[in-house]
Amino acid sequence: MPSLCRRVGSGTVLWPGRRREPFMPVPKRRTSKARKGKRRSHHALTPVQTVVCKQCGRPTLPHSVCSNCGWYRGRQVLEVEEE
Ligand SMILES: [Zn+2]
Repeated sequence: MPSLCRRVGSGTVLWPGRRREPFMPVPKRRTSKARKGKRRSHHALTPVQTVVCKQCGRPTLPHSVCSNCGWYRGRQVLEVEEE
């Protein structure tokens, strides 16, 4: 920054004889399509794994008590309130 410049507030430099220019970091180059695609190659989501409950047949999360009937590993472990 030349010595003739004045700092006005935070982040703004008043250049001599010019308009106010923002003093902030900006990317030097735009992100190419290839680089953007390579970055997003890891962004895909995978569906949640489910298993079928042996008691009621509803899909449930593996290694978890069935939220529909309350069974886990062939026995009742939770009381499920009826609606
Ligand atoms: Zn069940």
